[in-house]
Order: sequence, then C-alpha cells, then structure tokens
Amino acid sequence: MGQIEVWEIGYLGLGSSVGDREAHLRTAIQRLKGESVRVKRVSAIYESPHLGLHPSDAERYPPHLNSVIQIETCLSPLELLDRLIEVERAGGRERVERWSPRTIDIDILLLGSHIEQTPRLTLPHPGIAQRAFVVLPLVELSPELVLPNGERLADIALSKTIQGQVIRRVEGVRLLLEE
Ligand code: ATP
Ligand code: CA
Ligand code: CA
Ligand code: CA
Repeated sequence: MGQIEVWEIGYLGLGSSVGDREAHLRTAIQRLKGESVRVKRVSAIYESPHLGLHPSDAERYPPHLNSVIQIETCLSPLELLDRLIEVERAGGRERVERWSPRTIDIDILLLGSHIEQTPRLTLPHPGIAQRAFVVLPLVELSPELVLPNGERLADIALSKTIQGQVIRRVEGVRLLLEE
C-alpha cells in the first residue's frame, strides 16, 4: 500500500556574507528544488550588517544578504534539516564559530505547525522575532502569518526591536525568475 504524502508549507531563511552573496542565495534556491521540496515564493533581498560574536565584527566583515522563501515539502522536519545541510555543504559552507561569516546559511523558520525543541532542531526558529532580516522578508511574503504561539508577524514587524535595526531592502534584484 502506498504511503499517504503529507505536504506542508514551510518558510526558510537564507543568508550569505562571503564572496558573491547574491549568487550563493540564487544557487541554494536552485539546489533546494527537487522531488520533495517545491519553492513557491521568494522574498526580496535585504542587506544588513554582520552581527558576530564580537562587537568589532560589523566593521571587519561584509554585510549579509538575506531572503526568505516559502516552500512546500513532504519531508519531516529532520529530513528537511538534513537536506538544508547538504545544500549548505554544496555551497561551500564551513562551520567555524557561531555567527561567523558564511557563504550560505539556511535555517528552517517555520514548518507547518511543528513545534520542536531537540538538540538538533528548534521550531519555530528561536531568532525570528529578534531579527529584522527574517521578519521583514517573511511579512512581505505572508502579511497574515501568525506564529504557533499566537503572535502576529505583522505586529512583530512593527515592534521597536525590529524597527530599530539597520536594514536595507535591495531594489531591482530578483532571486527567482517566474517560470
Ligand atoms: P542561528 O541559528 O542563531 O541563526 P546559525 O544559523 O549561524 O545561528 P548554525 O551554525 O548554522 O547556526 O547552526 C547550528 C545548529 O543549529 C545546526 O547544526 C542545527 O542542528 C541547529 N538548529 C536548530 N534549530 C534549527 C532550525 N530551525 N533551522 C536550522 N538549524 C537549526
Ligand atoms: Ca515524509
Ligand atoms: Ca542562521
Ligand atoms: Ca543555520
């Protein structure tokens, strides 16, 4: 008997701060597409300073380009995480220390209504409400989105935490051309 396939909507946060940042984002999106992952929508690109572990990092390292994509997948949360790690490796990602400069970082922001807290995976991603480079592209894709804890994304986008951050929407660049 065939297994019933459950497809869920998810949101991934992509970031790059090394080399041809825009190309890293674009290539990662192409690599993510496959039998079990469909890329539905892609936000604009946002640029913001590097926030590392050390206060001087913002001057030492190039700014990040970030985007959020909406996907549809039949993978479980851990299967999806494994897939993202493969795509990061293919994109030359090296793990040095937390928040160090990287060619490509892909985080699962949300996947359906999954709530997880395991050593490998926390869902929703715990950084969402603190990060303008996540909230702004996410609200652009889904202004009606409500987090599993009931918080409305549109309200988070208007919070002081988000509004106080230095971030620029990069105009005129599209990561995904319509097919
Ligand atoms: P941050 O998670 O604060 O954005 P980061 O992306 O720089 O930091 P990484 O070094 O890329 O951190 O990932 C560290 C670990 O985080 C991964 O090995 C992964 O197991 C774990 N992790 C936990 N929750 C998630 C999630 N929702 N999406 C992606 N990775 C996650
Ligand atoms: Ca599955
Ligand atoms: Ca990250
Ligand atoms: Ca990550």
